[in-house]
Amino acid sequence: MYFCIRDDDTSFFTSPDDLEKTYGDVTKHGPVSLAIIPFCRAGSSKGLPAAYRNRWSIHALEGNRALVDYLRRGISEGRYEAMLHGYHHDERDQRREFLHGSDLARKVREGKQYLEQLLETTIRVFVPPHNAIGKEGLQAITAAGLHLGGVAGMRHGWPWLSPTSLEIWWYLRKRRKNGLDGLPYVLEVAGHRELAGTAITPASVLQGSLKRFDEAMGLDGVFCAATHYWEFDQPVTDADARTVGDHLYKLVQRARADSRVRWQSVGSVLAASPSFGQRP
Ligand SMILES: [Zn+2]
Repeated sequence: MYFCIRDDDTSFFTSPDDLEKTYGDVTKHGPVSLAIIPFCRAGSSKGLPAAYRNRWSIHALEGNRALVDYLRRGISEGRYEAMLHGYHHDERDQRREFLHGSDLARKVREGKQYLEQLLETTIRVFVPPHNAIGKEGLQAITAAGLHLGGVAGMRHGWPWLSPTSLEIWWYLRKRRKNGLDGLPYVLEVAGHRELAGTAITPASVLQGSLKRFDEAMGLDGVFCAATHYWEFDQPVTDADARTVGDHLYKLVQRARADSRVRWQSVGSVLAASPSFGQRP
């Protein structure tokens, strides 16, 4: 089974110490894929420092020199992978940048190129802000040669007339009917690949994550833990984990304990894993 960790919202406002405190130990055992905002707009996202929230000012990643140096080093050592997380991330009036926004092809192209030059790396994956993407956004990432961290779905850009997307849609429907959430396979649809994440947030329950993990293991599929470093100290209402971080660390322990687990970056898992249609 392939295993990967996706962490969203690294931006100008992220301190290297925060990432090191959260992932210093984890990345001794396997990589963490960071979804990075190239030009963060200080809107209403909870991950922003309170003093900046709702100011709507724009902050390019390069303004945080210490973070750029830390990321470059971590990426070159294989501890981190950089993924593109929107362009500005936040829009006013609860609008979603890659669902309602315009000029998305340019934003993807420029955002990708900016991060690649600044961090001296190759970007392979796009993670939409607030997990919201639509048809134009999907076309934009496909044109830029990127895969999707997340699942778009029929209502958000999959082509209705394609037999592949209909087959996947039917399979997802059947899973939901059987009470199964999550998705243990990489999807290949409309010229790109998609990978569902299992959200590790204050509302998540460890037993639920382990159930998905075990299902993916039984199918020799994929499991992607999706979390936010800025929520790691948040308590959870779960008898099996004290905090968000504790939840993730317990999953990591589980992954490390099983020799069948191939722990790779999100981009590598998307490239290497057999997709839904290729499964045995
Ligand atoms: Zn985000």
